[in-house]
Amino acid sequence: MLTDLPSNSIPTINITDFFNREIHVSVLRLDMIHPVISGNKWFKLRFYIDEAIAQRKTTVLTFGGAWSNHIIATAAACKLNGLKATGLIRGEAPAALSPTLLQAREWGMELVFISRNDYRQKIIPAGLLRDTSYLIPEGGYGEMGARGAATMLDRVTKKDYTHYCCAVGTGTMMAGLTRAALPGQQIIGVSVLKNNHDLDRNVSVLCAGSRSWQLLHGHHEGGYARHSPALIRFMNEFYGHTGIPSDFVYTGKLFFAIRRLIEDHFFPPGSRLLLIHSGGLQGNVSLPKGTLNF
Ligand SMILES: *Cc1c(COP(=O)(O)O)cnc(C)c1O
Repeated sequence: MLTDLPSNSIPTINITDFFNREIHVSVLRLDMIHPVISGNKWFKLRFYIDEAIAQRKTTVLTFGGAWSNHIIATAAACKLNGLKATGLIRGEAPAALSPTLLQAREWGMELVFISRNDYRQKIIPAGLLRDTSYLIPEGGYGEMGARGAATMLDRVTKKDYTHYCCAVGTGTMMAGLTRAALPGQQIIGVSVLKNNHDLDRNVSVLCAGSRSWQLLHGHHEGGYARHSPALIRFMNEFYGHTGIPSDFVYTGKLFFAIRRLIEDHFFPPGSRLLLIHSGGLQGNVSLPKGTLNF
């Protein structure tokens, strides 16, 4: 069952030395919880999977792109819970599938390609949505996803921190952290998309009135799934000093942003940050060999 944590202890690594300022920084290594259902995806999916089983559904439908961490995680989570899975994949079927999609198919997911236009409107091809199917929104965005993400903090000593910092795609994880935070704690979200003007609203819908969060929009390094030479240099340096690998779509941008924020005195002296390593390392295989030193 997905409600059982795959591993009892989730390491929290102190990387204060890397930043060398009066700010205490730790990383919650959610990337280490499961080889395939990595990082925040396990948490965002857990209550959706539970509900699908409780409602006696047999097939999970969801949406994603060719390199989607959500797609591969959903494929594995469904397989492990005896559910069938169908992935509605953005765009025409390519001549060669990405490693992500090949792996999703190995985990038993049926892949259905839909045009970019239908994808944008989330049009489900006729016949796929049956009484026995259960729909998980793109990226796990929604109430159930946020409730699941809130349980990430069950395994940490919350009072040790003043800030939680995370990368933000749909905002579901951030909303979950906001729900789980203690009074007075701040949640800082680094948006990995460019010009995502809906994001603030999407987060506020899911976090039930809390005002303890702030989204930063200036750290996308060119936009979603884009990267800059500076980001790649930083990721290699970060790995060299801390031994922590990051991905160029989400967590690399988070850690890079945090360094800039610390240098710009964004956090008051004495702050104690918990950075969420939300996984997603599989996407790095889309980079040319030798780009990263890990
Ligand atoms: C999906 C993902 C995110 C974004 O999570 P949201 O809840 O959609 O904001 C962040 N980091 C990684 C590694 C992810 O795979």
